[in-house]
Amino acid sequence: MKIHSDELTIQNIKGIGEETALQLNQMGINSVQDLLEYLPYRYEDYRLRDLEEVDHDERVTVEGKVHSEPSLMYYGRKKSRLTVRILVGRYLIQAVFFNQPYLKKKMALHDTVTVTGKWDKNRQVITVQHFQAGPHNKEGDFEPVYSLKGNVKNNTLSKFIKKAFEEYSHLVSENLPAALLGKYKLMNREEALYQLHFPHSPSDMKQARRRFVYEEFLLFQLKMQALRKFEREHSSGIQQHYDVEKLKGFTDTLPFPLTGAQKRVVNEISADMKSPYRMNRLLQGDVGSGKTVVAAIALFSSVTAGYQGALMVPTEILAEQHAESMSELLSPAGLSVALLTSSVKGKRRKLLLEKLKEGEVDILIGTHALIQDDVEFKSLGLVVTDEQHRFGVNQRRILREKGNSPDVLFMTATPIPRTLAITVFGEMDVSIIDEMPAGRKAIETHWAKADMLPRVLTFMDKELDQGRQAYVICPLIEESDKLDVQNAIDVYNQLLVYFQGRYKVGLMHGRLHPDEKDEVMRRFSSNDLQVLVSTTVVEVGVNVPNATFMLIYDAERFGLSQLHQLRGRVGRGENQSYCILLAEPKTEVGKERMKIMTETNDGFVLSEKDLELRGPGDFFGKKQSGLPEFKVADMVHDYRALEVARDDAASLINSESFWKNPEWERLRSYLAEAGVMEGEKLD
Ligand code: ADP
Ligand code: MG
Repeated sequence: MKIHSDELTIQNIKGIGEETALQLNQMGINSVQDLLEYLPYRYEDYRLRDLEEVDHDERVTVEGKVHSEPSLMYYGRKKSRLTVRILVGRYLIQAVFFNQPYLKKKMALHDTVTVTGKWDKNRQVITVQHFQAGPHNKEGDFEPVYSLKGNVKNNTLSKFIKKAFEEYSHLVSENLPAALLGKYKLMNREEALYQLHFPHSPSDMKQARRRFVYEEFLLFQLKMQALRKFEREHSSGIQQHYDVEKLKGFTDTLPFPLTGAQKRVVNEISADMKSPYRMNRLLQGDVGSGKTVVAAIALFSSVTAGYQGALMVPTEILAEQHAESMSELLSPAGLSVALLTSSVKGKRRKLLLEKLKEGEVDILIGTHALIQDDVEFKSLGLVVTDEQHRFGVNQRRILREKGNSPDVLFMTATPIPRTLAITVFGEMDVSIIDEMPAGRKAIETHWAKADMLPRVLTFMDKELDQGRQAYVICPLIEESDKLDVQNAIDVYNQLLVYFQGRYKVGLMHGRLHPDEKDEVMRRFSSNDLQVLVSTTVVEVGVNVPNATFMLIYDAERFGLSQLHQLRGRVGRGENQSYCILLAEPKTEVGKERMKIMTETNDGFVLSEKDLELRGPGDFFGKKQSGLPEFKVADMVHDYRALEVARDDAASLINSESFWKNPEWERLRSYLAEAGVMEGEKLD
């Protein structure tokens, strides 16, 4: 617990003694300033409502006249039940109070009372949680609810805060300059803080919130944008003077014209590569949007500039697939493409590494084998990683430290909602391919209940009879890899019997040895297996264009983005593909999620929806969300403000006045305190 020299300890507030102070310290409140800024995390809504509009089981506050003598009944030693009839408008309702016998004396026939509680619409009964003698008090429409520890009560804390405001409100100082406050008509900091603690009206509360949402986002974005700027300026990257003519020649040889989105991102990447700064760019594009070609073009330019390129992918089978498609694209243009995986051993490996060091290999493709110590490039200019979210931060860092600060392009097929991207990847540049190559057949997705499984299998049979292949994705048991595997084995055994003598079924799960996984994938790829039963491990970019059918068990347990990734394994060839979601969602949201899957093939739409339905915390899974925490702001609902703040922060960071003029002093010192200052060693 540290108190800055200019801060007052909370014991300066009347009523806070040593003991209370200790408890408040537990809550992170050490100074009067902390107390003033300890914000409620929600509000209890005590506004009056018309019973007509209140749903069953909803919480409601009503005002009415006592219409019967209250009757009190004891049962057990301490338990009691007090009931009274109250006339609320046209409604004669019953109010029930549990274990509050003393309230009997506080209400007499014809008194006006206000009660809050759960409304049983069918029986016309309110189970009262909060009672107030007399008419409804508008002042208390919204009661802030603070997160508490120890014996500190909500009311007590609220009183302390009130006292703090009475005596020390001058300690709240504005951190945004008048220009910004004026531009967005924002409430000043002291007033806004007061309104959050003691709201007068919904509109005041909204304005107060709006101010803090902007402040939080702006501060956060300033930090990210400053990081980004300094990282660029202090990382002496390489200027890759690629050959524009050769590049044009190369794109002309492609079997298809680039989509508009591909052209746009190629330009964004090229501009980075030419610049003296180090590229740190995220390339997002839905499954099948054509990221590989973009990567090939970038790697090609790097080679024309006299450098080597590397492409790093998460699994060996993907490395092989990429090596194949890159060779197809780049070898005709005279580039030498090599594959380095763990199965390249002994002499072959030694030879390859020598050639790499001599600069005889232009493009090296592999798994994290690429970042091992003995892998030395002659002059590495560009590193591309596919499915970056599968690489740990450390692996990414080692990669970036290889050679002389190569440019780095992270590719991902997991569409990250825009609002999360600018938050989580705020210090990176983001390029998005938001357009599919023309003429793609959309995957047909259907939602089926469990009892329709026989029909689904018949459907699957028909596809197989036409020479196609199928994936079966197994039931997911949350947080239990072991049970997942067991499930996969069960389904595998059932399907073995079902397809016996007709089609070959393979099994794939995370507990298989990497060699076994590769073997299974290879057999499926070559159509030696027609059905692949698998846990979610197939999710990453495998490409078997002849697979046109996917059945996903327990689909309601997967995130929308994950379902979309899985579904992306089919629909990769010329034939119509199908995805069947077997699901019995119990909630409305669950049903809605299944419906959306059947309605759209757009990964970005799904990811936005996923975020909306599940919230940002769940989006990246439980392990590490990397999401910043905001006290007031909500990344999903306040995304417009987030975008505005991001743009403001970017232009501030790049303006001279921000770094010079006194009006920005507060924000500059905020950055300094956050450890983001020019010249600092970052990363
Ligand atoms: P992903 O973004 O999932 O990595 P790929 O790069 O594998 O997508 O591309 C998917 C398929 O689309 C490939 O067969 C590729 O050759 C093809 N493709 C890529 N760009 C275009 C385009 N502009 N026009 C037509 N087909 C394209
Ligand atoms: Mg790909």
